[in-house]
Amino acid sequence: MFILLLGAPGAGKGTQGKVLAERLGLPKITTGDILRAAVQAGTPLGREAKRYMDEGKLVPDTVILGLIKEELAKPEANAGAILDGFPRTAAQAELVDRTLAERGQRLNHILLLDVAEGELVRRLQGRASLEGRSDDTPEAIRTRLQVYQRDTAPLIAHYAQRGNVHRVPATGTVEEIATEIKRILGR
Ligand code: ADP
Repeated sequence: MFILLLGAPGAGKGTQGKVLAERLGLPKITTGDILRAAVQAGTPLGREAKRYMDEGKLVPDTVILGLIKEELAKPEANAGAILDGFPRTAAQAELVDRTLAERGQRLNHILLLDVAEGELVRRLQGRASLEGRSDDTPEAIRTRLQVYQRDTAPLIAHYAQRGNVHRVPATGTVEEIATEIKRILGR
């Protein structure tokens, strides 16, 4: 089973993805974590990605498409995965759709974590002081929210055509939202 977590920065994809991955015994693929690890390790990928990430911009598809391909090809992701932080652009969505279709698979559920913009900003600013992420500056936060609206939000309509998008109001406690997701998935 493949589950896509869609939502703006700060919507709680990482938090709910972790809960869900543990509960369902599925691997979670998080492009943001993979990129941050590459930055930390100083690999060519990390060096390329860092300048985009720090500004809150998307790392270009020329870089990300290969990464996505690699992750989906891993044996752990044979039978399913939780997708967190990708696809984020139309080209990434096409790649994911095509790769899964070639294997006779598809995205079974798309969970749209829905949080009002004001609350997103509040969460991201709160997290900035806790985690010290280099892209949690006010300017980068503003850019990330704009980029989400421009490049990623259109994917909602793309997937809604297939009818498997579930909107999850994501402003309660972690527990409440997890319970709602459980209800939606029926497991
Ligand atoms: P958030 O959604 O809270 O901004 P992420 O950890 O998902 O945090 O992403 C952090 C940064 O990593 C993004 O701003 C972007 O620069 C880069 N990134 C992560 N995933 C992708 C992706 N699928 N495509 C392009 N860039 C990505």
